[in-house]
Amino acid sequence: MYNLCALSLRLSSRHLHLSRLEMAQAMTVHFLGTSSGGGPSESRNCSSLVVDCLKTGQLWSITGTTRQFAFQPHDTPLWLKPQNVSKMFITHLHADHILGITGFLRNVLFAPSIDPNVVVPANPTPRIEIYGPAGIRNFVRSTLIMTLTSTAEKFVVHELLSTDDAPTPCSPEVMHSSELVGRDIHCTEDGFWRNFTQGEGVFGDVVVDAGPILHRDPCLGYIFRETGEPKRKLVILGDTYDADPIIPLCREASLLIHEATEAHIPSEINPQYKRSLETVQRVALARGHSIPQQAGAFAKTIGLKSLFPAPRYERDKRVNVMREIERQATEAWDSGRNAIAAYDFMRVAVPAPASMAHASRMQQVSYADPSEGLVYVDKRSNKRKR
Ligand SMILES: [Zn+2]
Repeated sequence: MYNLCALSLRLSSRHLHLSRLEMAQAMTVHFLGTSSGGGPSESRNCSSLVVDCLKTGQLWSITGTTRQFAFQPHDTPLWLKPQNVSKMFITHLHADHILGITGFLRNVLFAPSIDPNVVVPANPTPRIEIYGPAGIRNFVRSTLIMTLTSTAEKFVVHELLSTDDAPTPCSPEVMHSSELVGRDIHCTEDGFWRNFTQGEGVFGDVVVDAGPILHRDPCLGYIFRETGEPKRKLVILGDTYDADPIIPLCREASLLIHEATEAHIPSEINPQYKRSLETVQRVALARGHSIPQQAGAFAKTIGLKSLFPAPRYERDKRVNVMREIERQATEAWDSGRNAIAAYDFMRVAVPAPASMAHASRMQQVSYADPSEGLVYVDKRSNKRKR
C-alpha cells in the first residue's frame, strides 16, 4: 500500500494547486480513453477511466486495458497503474468495452510460478473483482480458457442481473482455474442495484449503485457515492441514447460523465460538415448514442454540478469542434456552469466542500493539445511532450 498523501503532493504541486490535504480528500477521475461509440481511433483510446476515491489508494476502473495505462503521459502519477485497480465495472458487452479485459487480467494477476515448490494459498481472496451485466462472467471465463491463460492470483466476476436474466453457473467443471465463485446480484423491484459493493473513502464509505440506461443492447450506468458527509456523487454512464431510467439514482450528482457520440457542427465551424441537426439526431438514435444536447438536458434534470461529455470527434478542426460540443451541452444544461468535452488522459478532481468554494479548482489537472492528439503540453514550461 502506498502513501496517498505523499503521492498526491506531486500531483497538486504540478497542476492542481490544491493543498496536499485537499488533493488527498478529492474524488478524482482519470480518463484513459474517451472514444464514444467505438475505437480505438487515431487519437482516442476505447472508452475507459479510473476513479481514485479510496483511502487505501486502490483504484476502481470503468473497463480498462493495460495498454491504455501504458499510453499515459510520462508525468502521470506513479500510482495510476493497473496493479492498483481492485475493482472493475463493465457497462455493457460491446467489443470496445470488454476486449481489453483479458490482457488486463493476464497482466495484473501475473503468471504462475514455474517452481513446483511454490504453494498457492488454499482459499485466496480475489485480486480483482469484476462487476457487469449478465454474460460478462461467461465472456471473461471463456476468453481466459480459450487463450490458455493461467495466472498466479485469483479473480471473480459478479453479475448484476435484471429480472429477465439467467445466472451464469459457477461450478468447478466450467470455471477457469483462477476464478472464484462470484455473486449473482439481483436488482430490486424498481430495477436498480444499490450499494452492491463498497470501499473505505476518506470521509467514510464510498458505495456503488447501478441502474439501466438505454442503448442498442443492455447497458448500465454506475454511481460512486459517499454515504456520509460530504456526500459527493459521481455518475458515470455507459453508451446511451436515453439515460432516463437511471435518473432516480442520480439526483444531486457532483459530476456526470455522459457520452455525446454525434453532434451537429455548424458550417462556420467546420465548412466540410454537411449533415443537418435532424440527420445527426436520427443517426445517433439509430446507433443507440447521444448528442451533446441530450447530455446537457440529462444534467439539468438531475440537478448536476459538473458535466463531461465524451465525444468521438477526431483531430480535424478539433479545437473548435470540441468547443462547439461543449457549447451545445452547456446551453442545454442551463445551469450557469460550463460542460467540458473529455479527452484522453484528462483528469478531473471533485474536491471536498471546503475546497469547492473555489469553483476554479474543480478543473482538469492534466491537459493535452487537442490539435495534435497525444501530445502533452506542460503549461509551466510550455514544453511539448509525447
Ligand atoms: Zn456500445
